Amino acid sequence: MDARLTFLGSGTSMGVPTLGCDCPVCTSTDPRDRRLRPSVLVQWTAPNDGRNRTVIIDTGPDFREQALKTRLKHIDAVLYTHSHADHIMGLDDLRPLSFASIRAGGPIPLYASPDTTAVLERIFDYHFSPQSTYQTRARVHIEPLAERVPVHEAEFICVPVRHGEMDIAGFRFGDAAYLTDVSEIPESSFDLLQNLTTLVLPSLRHHPHPSHATVKQAVRWAQRIGARQTWLTHIAHELGHEQTNRMLPPGIALAYDGLEVAVNL
Ligand SMILES: [Zn+2]
Ligand SMILES: [Zn+2]
Repeated sequence: MDARLTFLGSGTSMGVPTLGCDCPVCTSTDPRDRRLRPSVLVQWTAPNDGRNRTVIIDTGPDFREQALKTRLKHIDAVLYTHSHADHIMGLDDLRPLSFASIRAGGPIPLYASPDTTAVLERIFDYHFSPQSTYQTRARVHIEPLAERVPVHEAEFICVPVRHGEMDIAGFRFGDAAYLTDVSEIPESSFDLLQNLTTLVLPSLRHHPHPSHATVKQAVRWAQRIGARQTWLTHIAHELGHEQTNRMLPPGIALAYDGLEVAVNL
């Protein structure tokens, strides 16, 4: 089934430009050096009824702006990779898209691990608490993140990865996979990443970070996994788009906000 992967944001947690910074990347005029917080959309058209389906992976602090830019009108499900602020803080902006007047089919399912669920329920207790009297609360409900998450005609397979001290989720869907915030890929997860056409890996910067991969590490993983094309995301302001792409091997490139890639579910 033909589908489309859209990068809503390719930046690290602080975004690029980074507040208060005048470095060459933060002041660059190349639009690909402007990076919102990391998130992707997966969209396809249902073969039986022709309906457009949309799954979003993470709702970061830039979700509202990203949704406006992509004219997002409908969400079938949200998948959460983990509970850090740059991946969840846009949950509140799901509200208008969740109201029954706009969305047929009931509350939006949010798929989250137990750790992520605990954080979502604490931060957004005014949506999730049974005692909440907040009138315009989001019409959403949290579903446990299973190894396989079916969403209508598609299936998302959970790919466990390490993010510093945390166990978090990446996702495989059809011939594509999206991994963000990775410091280590367990051996067992490489088995879930075979025969990929499109692979998304994180690559923060050149010098090491305790919970994020460097460019070198991402290239090593990309070459081992061997997808036809690897896109790097979760990029900090140390990496200029043009300049970094020139030094990357063929088949590996930095992603950028708005990039659309055809995938097969
Ligand atoms: Zn992050
Ligand atoms: Zn900067």
